[in-house]
Amino acid sequence: MSFYHEACHGTQDGLKESCAVFGIFGDREAARKTYLGLYSLQHRGQESAGIAASDGCTFSLHKGMGLVSSVFAGSDVLDALQGNSAIGHTRYSTTGLSGLENAQPILIRFKGGKIAAAHNGNMVNAGELRRRMEEEGSIFQTTSDSEIVLHLIARSKKDTIEEMIADSLEKIEGAYSFVFLTPSKLIAARDPLGFRPLCLGKTQGGYVVASESCALDIIESEYMRDVMPGEILSIDASGKSSIYLPTSSRRAFCIFEYIYFSRPDSIIFGDKVDKIRRSLGKTLAKEAPCNADLVIAVPDSANTAALGYARKSAIRFEIGLIRNHYVGRTFIEPHQHERDLDVKIKFNTVSGVLKGKRVVVVEDSIVRGTTLRQLIHLIRDAGAVEVHVRVSSPPVVFPCYYGIDISNRKELIAASHSVEEIRSYLEADSLAYLSVEGMLKTVGDGSAYCNACFTGDYPTVTPKNFNKERFGESAIQPISDHR
Ligand code: SF4
Repeated sequence: MSFYHEACHGTQDGLKESCAVFGIFGDREAARKTYLGLYSLQHRGQESAGIAASDGCTFSLHKGMGLVSSVFAGSDVLDALQGNSAIGHTRYSTTGLSGLENAQPILIRFKGGKIAAAHNGNMVNAGELRRRMEEEGSIFQTTSDSEIVLHLIARSKKDTIEEMIADSLEKIEGAYSFVFLTPSKLIAARDPLGFRPLCLGKTQGGYVVASESCALDIIESEYMRDVMPGEILSIDASGKSSIYLPTSSRRAFCIFEYIYFSRPDSIIFGDKVDKIRRSLGKTLAKEAPCNADLVIAVPDSANTAALGYARKSAIRFEIGLIRNHYVGRTFIEPHQHERDLDVKIKFNTVSGVLKGKRVVVVEDSIVRGTTLRQLIHLIRDAGAVEVHVRVSSPPVVFPCYYGIDISNRKELIAASHSVEEIRSYLEADSLAYLSVEGMLKTVGDGSAYCNACFTGDYPTVTPKNFNKERFGESAIQPISDHR
C-alpha cells in the first residue's frame, strides 16, 4: 500500500517545513489564543501540535498527533488549559522520530520548579551534546533536540531562569527559536545568527511571540518587532526585559523562508514576505524572459512569485491549475495507480485557460521534480502547446542542517543533474532558475542570509553523520514524498 501525504502549504515533492512556536502572556484566554495562533502556523508543521498553559502556579498540557483542529477537537480540551499564559507548538520532525513522545511543548520539573519549552530549528551539535550527557548518566525521554536544552537548564548553576537559559544556549550551535513558560514568565530566545523567524506583538493586556506575524493577526495583536538574533526576551507581570547571548554582526536568516516556507501575509526578518516573493518573481522575469501567452503558478506557494513574474514580463497571469485543499491522507491500492493519478488527486487543470497556449509555469523551488513532471503532463494534456518552467530560487544542491527537511543530497535532483538534464526529465520546453546573485540582491542585504542549500556556504560547522545521528542507523531517510 502506498500513501499520500497532504501538506497544508506548498507543493514540493520532498520539502517540509520545520516547526512553529507561539507564546502569549497576560491574557485570560491564553490557551484559546494560542490555539488560534497555531491554526495560522499550521503550514509549518502538521505532524503534531500542543499547548502548555500556566495559571501562575499550576501547569496544564495537552498535545497529540495530527493537525491543530483534531488535536484540540472539543471545547473541553481548551477549557482545561487554564491560565493567563501559554505556549504552543506545531511540529514536523526534522529531528528525532515522529511520535507523541517527541510532540511539544515539553514540560519538566527541575530544581527551579516547572518549565515548558517549544522549539523551532535544528542544533548542529545536538548529537555530540546528547552523547556526552548520556555518558554522564542523563536519561532522555524523547529524541528531539529540545530536551537537550532542558537538561542543560536543569544543570546550570546560574541564579535566574534567564541566566540559566543563556548559560544553556551558549553551548548550542545551530538554529533555534525557543519559547519557554514558567509559572510566572514567558521567555523567548533566538539563536545569534537568527536562522528562524520569531516576532513580538502587543496584546491588550500583555505580549505575544510567534514564528510568523500571521499568528499575531488572527488574535488581533499588534506586530512590534522581531525578537533579535541572540536575544533572550523575558515577559512577566512587570513587563518585558532582555539579555543577549554573545553575538557577532554575522546573520544567517533562512532565505528559504521568503522563497517558500513563510506565509505571504507574514512579516519575517522585518520585511513583508509578499513583497519579497513578488520581487523574486520580477527578478526571475528579468533574468529568464520567455515568449509566452500566459503565466500560471503551481499553487499555492508559487502564486506570489508568479504574479511578480507576470507583472515584470507583461504577460497575462491566469489561474491554470486548481489545487484541491481538502486532500487528507488518501490510501491508494497499488492497482489503482495510473499515470499521474497521485498528482491528479491534488491538482486539476483549467483547460479553457490552457488550450492552445504557450504557458510559463512558475514554481518556487524544485527538490526532486517528480510532482512538477506530472503537472507538466497534465498541463500538456489540457492542450497547452508549449510549457516553460521558471523557478523563483536557484537549484537546491546541498542539505540543510538548520531545521528544514533537505537532508539527503541523493534526493536533490539538481545535486546530480544539469539544468538541461532536469529540463529533459521534466519534459518542459525550457527551464530556468533564478540565479544566486539575483536572489541575494532581491532580498536586500544578501550577506545577512543563509543560502547554504544553494551554495554549500554553511554559516556554522556542519555535523558529521547528520542523518545517522538524528534518525538512527536503520531509520527511513528524512526526505519523503509529501505530495
Ligand atoms: Fe534555509 Fe537553506 Fe540555510 Fe537551511 S540551508 S537554513 S533551508 S537557506
